[in-house]
Amino acid sequence: MKDLLCDEFQNTVAELLIRHHSILDVLSKSQEAGSRINRAVTKSVTNCGCTKIKAEKKEIPAGATLADLKAYTDSHLEGALCENCREIVETEIGRSLFYLAALCNLLDLNLYDIFIKEHKKLSTLRVFNFT
Ligand SMILES: [Zn+2]
Repeated sequence: MKDLLCDEFQNTVAELLIRHHSILDVLSKSQEAGSRINRAVTKSVTNCGCTKIKAEKKEIPAGATLADLKAYTDSHLEGALCENCREIVETEIGRSLFYLAALCNLLDLNLYDIFIKEHKKLSTLRVFNFT
């Protein structure tokens, strides 16, 4: 059984996508949406200040295993999104999902099937997934 919410979302995008129906428009708008997510996160650091980025090189011991690596990595992110920044980031992620669904529609792909396929891959590979 297909996930109804995901399919419904993809169908709604298909109905609404009138203005940017060309694959060229969808590809460029999808890329723009991804950039807007990055900008929104960046603004949470530089304009609002609710989050901070603190990065430095992490030393990984020579004998560390793949399973150990998580303990030696860091998000480099401090703080948490405030209500306003959270709203902006969520909006931009939503816009990105819209164009991702639009791309799936134009290429006759099912977004839910892709979620399932990726989840199975991640579940199988676990720590050996280098994404
Ligand atoms: Zn903020």
